[in-house]
Amino acid sequence: MISDYRPSLTEEEYDRYMSAFNQLVVSRRIGELSENEYAMRLERLDSEFQSLIDFQDIMVFGQISGLQEALTEIMPPEIVDSYITHELQHGNKARELGYAVNYGIFIMIGNSGNLVVAPFTQTLGKSCATDFDKIRRAPGVLSRLDKI
Ligand SMILES: [Zn+2]
Repeated sequence: MISDYRPSLTEEEYDRYMSAFNQLVVSRRIGELSENEYAMRLERLDSEFQSLIDFQDIMVFGQISGLQEALTEIMPPEIVDSYITHELQHGNKARELGYAVNYGIFIMIGNSGNLVVAPFTQTLGKSCATDFDKIRRAPGVLSRLDKI
């Protein structure tokens, strides 16, 4: 059960990673980083982040139904539905652009000691920056992070 799991990832670490990630996206967009430099920095950031967390703090699913089941364990159906709708819009755009897609969640300890889950959509293989932007902006309602 996800609700019984005690992740080693904290919300603070996750936020730090996401803000470093977003800085890379912005630097690439304004031309401060080339696509290659961006890809290299992102790889380094990801490996630093992965070394920080327990492998069980990330759950990855090949199908949207896996994400749906995981979220259903810990939140009410209407909130699950809104997450699923949102992630599917990222996923469908990625598929349309020719990528295979995984869905997943980061599980972390929130700032007030509660369990926090952050759903994500992941494209497999190398994705070019333009496609990344299209996939990120695909949902009708953008999350705080999608807007960057
Ligand atoms: Zn999103």
